[in-house]
Amino acid sequence: MSGDGPSLVWFRDDLRLADNPALTAALERGRPIVAVYVLDEESPGIRPLGGAARWWLHGSLTSLADSLERLGGRLTLRRGPAEDAIRELAASVGADAVFWNRRYGQAEREVDTRIKSSLTAGGILARSFAGSLLFEPWTIQTGQGGTYSVFTPFWRACTAGPPPRAPFATPESFPGFSGPIASDQLERWELLPTRPDWAAGLRETWQPGEESAHRRLTTFLHESLARYGTERDEPAQTVTSRLSPHLRWGEISPFQIWHATEQARIGLTGTAQASATRFLTEVGWREFSYHVLFNSPRIATVNLRPEFDAFPWPKLDERVLEAWQHGRTGIALVDAGMRELWRTGSMHNRVRMVTASFLIKNLLIDWRLGEQWFWDTLVDADAASNPFGWQWVAGSGADAAPYFRVFNPELQAKKFDPHAVYIRQNVPEYGTDAYPAPIVDLGETRRAALAAYEQIKGMK
Ligand code: FAD
Repeated sequence: MSGDGPSLVWFRDDLRLADNPALTAALERGRPIVAVYVLDEESPGIRPLGGAARWWLHGSLTSLADSLERLGGRLTLRRGPAEDAIRELAASVGADAVFWNRRYGQAEREVDTRIKSSLTAGGILARSFAGSLLFEPWTIQTGQGGTYSVFTPFWRACTAGPPPRAPFATPESFPGFSGPIASDQLERWELLPTRPDWAAGLRETWQPGEESAHRRLTTFLHESLARYGTERDEPAQTVTSRLSPHLRWGEISPFQIWHATEQARIGLTGTAQASATRFLTEVGWREFSYHVLFNSPRIATVNLRPEFDAFPWPKLDERVLEAWQHGRTGIALVDAGMRELWRTGSMHNRVRMVTASFLIKNLLIDWRLGEQWFWDTLVDADAASNPFGWQWVAGSGADAAPYFRVFNPELQAKKFDPHAVYIRQNVPEYGTDAYPAPIVDLGETRRAALAAYEQIKGMK
């Protein structure tokens, strides 16, 4: 398209300059660029961000704006329904092309489809790209043309084809649009908590932004990749990549991670080399979560296995839910995980499984309440991976753990945190009189959960 207006690049879950196909396309077009982020809390069906995610978004937008300014550009901020914001901005700057990277949730896709048709109807070029997933959901199909509901064949199908494309180059300059553009001020969005400011632990733990994401990847590949396969389940080890919030916000792309890992693998042998495969397989679980989200858009609220709709959840005792949320259950590994989450906005994967299993199968609380708490408190809260993880643990999901697999948090602690290092890091009073007694008996509640499951087993 060879109009002479500026191009608009709409940043969404891809807050980076490097390996950004939408930005690359705009740069190739050779016209001045208007970079915009829209805080859309109003379009129908868009799930409002949780508190920790809002905190991250503030940092990530600050970082993206700084990077653009260093290259001579700037980031325009708009708030409101994206359809109105993008149309209005395109009209006000006279843009004749709009570029973005695709999203995969249903509400987001509907918004994007509407915007694409209204821009196109107005004579504006609208183009979208694959920037956030290695394998877009509709490109991976079973032999019969269906969708996958089991991970292993899904990942086999993904990896059977050509490898993911190489990352696009990092732009060296940015032809910013020089005309006037109205922009919101980030501070006015009030994404950061103030009364009270509960984000001290998040600030200590995380540094949002593209540069920080790449530092983390480099450190991980040098220091931990070789041990990942054998130590990734131990929460006291800092062996996993901790890239999930950076991936969630697209500060780094899976293409960059894939190729950097393949590069790092070259120098490895034996179990270290197998570790690299294992790591990329975990990145594959993220792809699978999106495959499932795309095909079951209501994954955060609807059981993927309908027989679970009849599960006899007892009446909710709010005090029990609060004890879980705040890490006061008297079950040490559960409390350690829930306190880590509250303090840092994150939790180790093994402990996510244990705390989720405890809520669903020992406290008999509906998984959706746990999912919502994680959604609000995780910096990596992800519309696909979070509900997918919860339904996996509940047994109601795709390729899920069977319901009768109840994690025993004491055995899990013995196995994965044998010296209680992780527990003590997060529960300083552990082992003293100040630590509460368990709020439930693990054996009894397990039996009650299995009895409840018997009632729905075989139902459809
Ligand atoms: P690594 O082990 O270094 O893995 C690399 C990357 O692969 C991760 O950053 C992540 O993007 C992806 N990944 C790894 N494991 C999984 C998995 N099981 N499912 C999907 N992707 C995976 N992950 C989120 O990103 N956001 C969530 O909201 C989220 N909620 C979860 C809720 C529950 C109940 C469970 C059991 C898991 C959840 N996960 C979620 C998956 C997993 O726990 C995190 O991705 C992982 O702990 C992040 O740490 P890491 O970056 O060090 O992972």
